[in-house]
Amino acid sequence: MARRKLVYEGKAKILYEGTEPGTLIQYFKDDATAFNAEKKAVIEGKGVLNNRLSEYFMVGLQAIGVPTHFIKRINMREQLIRQVEIIPLEVIVRNYAAGTMAKRLGMEEGTALPRPIVEFSYKDDSLGDPLVPEEYIAAFGWATQQEMDDIVSLALRVNDFMSGVMYGVGIKLIDFKIEVGRVWDNEYPRLILADEISPDSCRLWDIETGRKLDKDVFRRDLGDLADAYTEVAKRLGVLPTNVTHNPTKPTLIN
Ligand code: 5GP
Repeated sequence: MARRKLVYEGKAKILYEGTEPGTLIQYFKDDATAFNAEKKAVIEGKGVLNNRLSEYFMVGLQAIGVPTHFIKRINMREQLIRQVEIIPLEVIVRNYAAGTMAKRLGMEEGTALPRPIVEFSYKDDSLGDPLVPEEYIAAFGWATQQEMDDIVSLALRVNDFMSGVMYGVGIKLIDFKIEVGRVWDNEYPRLILADEISPDSCRLWDIETGRKLDKDVFRRDLGDLADAYTEVAKRLGVLPTNVTHNPTKPTLIN
């Protein structure tokens, strides 16, 4: 088989040239990283689960009219996506205090926020993705004021959808990160949801027990990450309930 052209390799995903102009193939790796890649591991099956889960959320979002880069899943680890101009921001939506917000403000993790809060970080690993005010974003030309307003609306729609889906399966959506890309219709730019939505980029807590079902399991050494992600996938019906995670054997899912 001819080798595909690698376009970009990140910490958890690889982008290859797609089958048609304007498309890419997004490959989900098993690599897990935290604290700016200071902590690293290979978690067997994570890429397969995230490919499936991200497909599930993107398809659901498209069904309620949220534009996304997702075109179709190709196989267990790959999906065909629309090529976008990535806006160099991490867009974070928080419903409850946790992580950097809890630390910065001295809040107890899990404290409900008065309303969902959207914040922007500048996407730069070497700087540790610093939180940036809108003033910086406009001044440095990363996004226009109109685009920032559109990103906030998009992020809140994603939050409503994701919170509802998760609540339906007994999971509290604490916070999450999305990335947004620009596509051009003739000379007019339009924003669409890009990257992925998976337990790698969300905080998900079981409503009854408070068990963490997201990447904090890896960041904080709380147990088997693939088990946590498998639990999310099972509850959503993305995996048959009789499939159990076996770290020594790959699990075939259709
Ligand atoms: P925090 O700012 O508290 O570290 O993260 C807030 C939310 O955004 C969490 O759900 C976290 O998983 C997600 N997030 C923040 N930065 C990144 C990142 O660089 N990569 C991924 N995958 N998720 C992130």
